[in-house]
Amino acid sequence: MTESRKVDAVVVGAGIAGLYQLYKLRERGMTTRVFETGDGVGGTWYWNRYPGARCDVESLSYSYSFSPELEQEWNWTERYPTQPEILRYVNHVADRFDLRKDITFSTRVVSAVYDDSTQRWRVDTDTGEIVDAQFLIMATGCLSRSKLPEVPGLDRFQGPTYHTGHWPHEGVDFTGMRVGIIGTGSSAVQSIPVIAEQTADLTVFQRTPAYSIAALNRPLEQSEIDSMKTDYRAWREAQRTSGFGVPVELPTQSALEVSEEERFAKYESGWQKGTLVSILAGYTDTLTNREANDTAAEFIRRKIRERVNDPEVAETLSPRSYPFGTKRPCLDTNYYETFNKPNVHLVDLRKTPLVELTENGLRTSEQEYEFDAIVFATGFDAMTGALTAIDIRGKDGIALREKWAEGPRSYLGVAVAGFPNLFTITGPSSPSVLSNMIVSIEQHVDWITDCAAYMRERGIGAIEATSEAEDGWVAHVEEAGNATLYPTADSWYMGSNVPGKPRVFMAYIGGVGVYRQLCDEVAAKGYEGFALEGAMTRA
Ligand code: FAD
Ligand code: NAP
Repeated sequence: MTESRKVDAVVVGAGIAGLYQLYKLRERGMTTRVFETGDGVGGTWYWNRYPGARCDVESLSYSYSFSPELEQEWNWTERYPTQPEILRYVNHVADRFDLRKDITFSTRVVSAVYDDSTQRWRVDTDTGEIVDAQFLIMATGCLSRSKLPEVPGLDRFQGPTYHTGHWPHEGVDFTGMRVGIIGTGSSAVQSIPVIAEQTADLTVFQRTPAYSIAALNRPLEQSEIDSMKTDYRAWREAQRTSGFGVPVELPTQSALEVSEEERFAKYESGWQKGTLVSILAGYTDTLTNREANDTAAEFIRRKIRERVNDPEVAETLSPRSYPFGTKRPCLDTNYYETFNKPNVHLVDLRKTPLVELTENGLRTSEQEYEFDAIVFATGFDAMTGALTAIDIRGKDGIALREKWAEGPRSYLGVAVAGFPNLFTITGPSSPSVLSNMIVSIEQHVDWITDCAAYMRERGIGAIEATSEAEDGWVAHVEEAGNATLYPTADSWYMGSNVPGKPRVFMAYIGGVGVYRQLCDEVAAKGYEGFALEGAMTRA
């Protein structure tokens, strides 16, 4: 032990969520320590420095809304900002609001234990520091615990390997190299076109093809920046009350009610917008009716056939095994066109499965491939991974990872029965990953901060979700999920990318606006569904 400290709150993680949480707690006069494994702020945008990394929500929307001054002074340059630009923005926020002084970098929280007699958390770090806090706020990220492929021989390969989620800060020069990349999710879809520009030879190992939409990225016009800045408040309000945190015109018709020509015209106009949601939100039943979904899926497959010269390669790249939107869709720049290059090859792992890594490369059931470097674009142990990596123990020593052994259980995705004074920002069973995440992050942080302030004002020492409220929320989230096609896909939303992880739909599909209203109603009713305990009643 090097130091012991007593604070009002410990926040774990200094990404977009942790920084805003620190800002809000400080604003309410609460002492806070933030711990961050990395040596800088930014979370996702600090770690994911792979070539081509960028946001697929528009910059003017994927930004904090809490400070009108910040909104006015920051100037985004591109419609979809690059990772370096977002990281510059997050660093600017940390400096502008003087946040770094309460953040301890290069320090991982390894355990947190709740003491019922003091109503406080003891938080232990890997540097031996112990901090005592009333509130433990997890800003650990939904997509922060990266995952390697489950394949024998990971340490056998003699060349360098890279995971997109832990990219070297100094970058990687692939010039003249033979490179293999495993995975075709969003990270791969973004990085493949850029890596292919450098390599002598790039081989893409695909297990499940993605549905990817052309981003139509471009520099922002000064006029559109000015116009957004004039009207930012109204836009932010529209974000907060929308379904996905991105305002769109709401559909009124089923895809099956209209003629094929009309449908095609609608999808084409959605495609021309170059956004993640424009086709998804075209009709009321895209995410609920397989037949309706098939029409959108076929539209995207048709685009793939137009973009890829070789019909066989186009077919291999065409998703057919799951509905459009039920695995997170991708937004790309030249992804499919990259497969027209003579130095880019596609291997279908469904036909020839990955067997092992070898000294010189990797082997599928068909042959060995030799590489100078291998990239793993194999994703994350999403939603729960970063939380269960920490030994979190609530009342009576119960471990969060045991409680969640059959899948995450929470009340509103923000609190867990048996774990008083613990909050999970964008936790499982909240809209989180189904939205523009900054909108969901700000909503949770505001709600959590108001809750902590409410407790302070009334001398409440502990707040805990009741088991009944938790059961009710879990059932509601499941029911909402089951009314959609999401559970029909093997996706990280369902935990199915991690062997042995329970198959549970881990996000709330009710919509960002609806969810916000539910949370506000709970607060307005004096935190309905929570048990509140006077300060130190048992001490
Ligand atoms: P994170 O940014 O993940 O930050 C969590 C931090 O917690 C990390 O820095 C981590 O090191 C730290 N941490 C975790 N565990 C510990 C511990 N035990 N001790 C100390 N520190 C710990 N969302 C969108 O809405 N739009 C997008 O276009 C988009 N693009 C994305 C692109 C990529 C490549 C990825 C991976 C995600 C993307 N996301 C996107 C989701 C993105 O994660 C969120 O938008 C947002 O950045 C999450 O912020 P956060 O602060 O909640 O979590
Ligand atoms: P991902 O979507 O989970 O993709 C991982 C890829 O690796 C999948 O194609 C997966 O195949 C493959 N894979 C995993 N294990 C494998 C194995 N053992 N053998 C063969 N293939 C394997 O991860 P990601 O691309 O990093 O993206 C994760 C999420 O982060 C995204 O969904 C998105 O929310 C966010 N993100 C956003 C952007 C953006 O555009 N702004 C960019 C990157 C990430 P299967 O599908 O068969 O499992």
